[in-house]
Amino acid sequence: MAPEGGCLYKLAVQEARIIIDRLKKMLNRKIYNNKKRIDELEERIKKLELNHMTQIEVYELDLKPCPRCGEKAKFIEDDCGTFNLAPNHNHWIECSKCGLRTMTVKGWEEDLAIKLWNERN
Ligand SMILES: [Zn+2]
Repeated sequence: MAPEGGCLYKLAVQEARIIIDRLKKMLNRKIYNNKKRIDELEERIKKLELNHMTQIEVYELDLKPCPRCGEKAKFIEDDCGTFNLAPNHNHWIECSKCGLRTMTVKGWEEDLAIKLWNERN
């Protein structure tokens, strides 16, 4: 289980760049469609770098609210402390309030987890 509070939302800017690259690939493969979100993240990173900040807070990666209670969902990586979608780590998406969650997937299946969550009802 990931620690309470989801420690994975504070990312090093470099890590955030890696995730943005992955989102872009997903965008190209048409399994992710929020280009606005990517642009917004890139813009924020630029500003952080200008201010010599090394961390960015990334919240939901375009996850829909929980279908059961309406709260924000979050991406959980079992090896908390980093959020790098590591291929061999277990990941899942979980409601921050009621605990509704997807099945566990491997890092390279994050698109599957997003799909499972967003299509849930
Ligand atoms: Zn919920």
